[in-house]
Amino acid sequence: MSKPPLKLGIMGGTFNPIHQGHLVTAEFIRDKFKLDEVLFVPSGKPPHKGNDEIALPEHRWMMTVLATASNEYFSVSSIEIEREGNSYTRDTILQLKQIYGEKTECYFITGADAIAEISTWHKIEDLPQMTKFIAVSRPGYKLDTKKVDSRFQKCTFLVEVPALAISSTEIRKRIKKGQTIKYLLPEAVEKYIHKHSLYR
Ligand code: NAP
Repeated sequence: MSKPPLKLGIMGGTFNPIHQGHLVTAEFIRDKFKLDEVLFVPSGKPPHKGNDEIALPEHRWMMTVLATASNEYFSVSSIEIEREGNSYTRDTILQLKQIYGEKTECYFITGADAIAEISTWHKIEDLPQMTKFIAVSRPGYKLDTKKVDSRFQKCTFLVEVPALAISSTEIRKRIKKGQTIKYLLPEAVEKYIHKHSLYR
């Protein structure tokens, strides 16, 4: 009997910086959707953003490696960091299908606010055939499913994750004000941020 296709979670985000909310989300989704692996893909050049306040891709990649090292189901990809130009999700999924095999079932996991804007993403027509989407939200955030582009409604799951009360924006603000960030992210990431004077 042939092996069932690999179920691959693709955790897409800027991870500026990665925090406990991202890690709890990835583990929770892995368990809920019975994923074989969750691959974290830090964006190289996020298409919708200026570069103010975004740490260098190499720093965000290294913090993601440090944060995920102890989970045997987690791994980190540098494909968006190595690719030239904007980090389009469509290009990433195509590249991952080449690496993992065409039959791989992809689940692209990201913030619900990002999914709400999906109709503005690059070349989205064939994305619903390439991957399912898991839109995760923080408590209190209500994604109006009717607002999600109609082509994506059937392939998008919405999941509320209480741990996402933690946010990268809040962590960056706390660092600027000299406030503690202990326990909001893994200790190794906290030390890395201090060592490299990030977000000051
Ligand atoms: P973002 O604007 O930085 O984040 C939007 C919201 O989602 C924030 O509240 C953020 O919280 C949260 N979030 C982001 N990634 C998450 C994750 N993996 N798990 C849980 N929460 C998450 O979004 P972004 O990082 O720029 O974009 C998200 C993904 O969509 C990236 O992989 C990006 O490449 C992709 N995208 C693709 C296109 C395109 O193909 N044209 C366009 C836009 C976005 P935190 O700040 O706490 O993370």
